[in-house]
Amino acid sequence: MLAKRVFNFSAGPAAIPEPVLKQAAAEMLDWHGEHLSVWEMSHRGSAFTSIIRQAEDDLRELLEVPSTHRILFMQGGATAMNAVVPMNLVNRPDCCRVIDFVHTGLWSGKALLEAPKYAQVHVAATSEDTQFTYLPPQDSWQLTEQAAYVHVCPNETVHGVQFHFQPDTGNIPLVADMSSEILSRPVDFSCYDVVYAGAQKNMGPAGLVVVIVREDLIGHAMTCCPSVFDWAHVAEAGSMFNTPPTGAIYLCGLILKWLKQRGGVSRMQRESIEKSQMLYDYIDSSNLYYNPVEKVCRSRMNVPFFLRDASLEDAFLAGAKQRGLVQLKGHRIMGGMRASLYNAMPIEGVDALVRFMSDFEGKRLF
Ligand SMILES: *Cc1c(COP(=O)(O)O)cnc(C)c1O
Repeated sequence: MLAKRVFNFSAGPAAIPEPVLKQAAAEMLDWHGEHLSVWEMSHRGSAFTSIIRQAEDDLRELLEVPSTHRILFMQGGATAMNAVVPMNLVNRPDCCRVIDFVHTGLWSGKALLEAPKYAQVHVAATSEDTQFTYLPPQDSWQLTEQAAYVHVCPNETVHGVQFHFQPDTGNIPLVADMSSEILSRPVDFSCYDVVYAGAQKNMGPAGLVVVIVREDLIGHAMTCCPSVFDWAHVAEAGSMFNTPPTGAIYLCGLILKWLKQRGGVSRMQRESIEKSQMLYDYIDSSNLYYNPVEKVCRSRMNVPFFLRDASLEDAFLAGAKQRGLVQLKGHRIMGGMRASLYNAMPIEGVDALVRFMSDFEGKRLF
């Protein structure tokens, strides 16, 4: 029996479904009669090969990734991909070395800061004027003709802003950092040329980053690009150009199986609408808490909220912890609180959070 577990609202590394942890624990000493753990296997052996190919197939099936796109398992996190994407894309003969960025929060801002090592950057749109409480409307984006690509972050994990529309950039390739929303809703991947996502938010443990890339964009890496980061090498080697993060891929695979059993991404979307609505409705009805983001672009995954009396923050966090509600402290650049509601967060956790918030507010007599 596992000890009683907390409701973990961490933005990442984030909660992992309990059935997955139980299965991993049961298989730790002896994976499927091999008498060793996944962590000790050769990545070239048939056992691990079946694990990685199954994970890739399940991801393709769950996300309905079209056959025009490759799925790559890589390392270095989404942060490495902020350099790896330009190194692989800006050298194409059919584009200029300009990258357009839609700057909507901390993470698109980090991608924007990394890219000038490899190309010229152009801010096509930004919501910095309000500290990222809205999304610049698509018809205001100033795209560069023949840009190498347009970069977006459809869910800003820190600022709690999410695209609820499908960006359309015409002929210019569209690149998205989906770290904190992948697998939370159906997405038409034929609209994206490159998608990348660190696993530790909604897909598994840290150490693994998934890249979904249109196959015909592969093969143009800059000469300075490290071989392990050249998509042509990674794709050709079936994501095993060098030793892959075997344990992380295994756990990711278990999470994908769990997701399939639970009804896939459309079920996750229904649940995330229900969970986030419950929390936003309570916040909006309260006199103590508030969320500054425009309603049409609020994130269903990461809900930042603030106490009108910031001196109560420590008491709030301590009280929440007593009820088994943890990791609610906001990102250091934002302050306040943040509740992340990824797929592994059950509705009971959100219900318990809202009840605590209401009790806390009531006791303080606001
Ligand atoms: C967490 C996060 C990252 C950073 O991921 P690392 O694995 O730490 O590199 C990048 N982008 C988004 C949207 C994130 O949520």
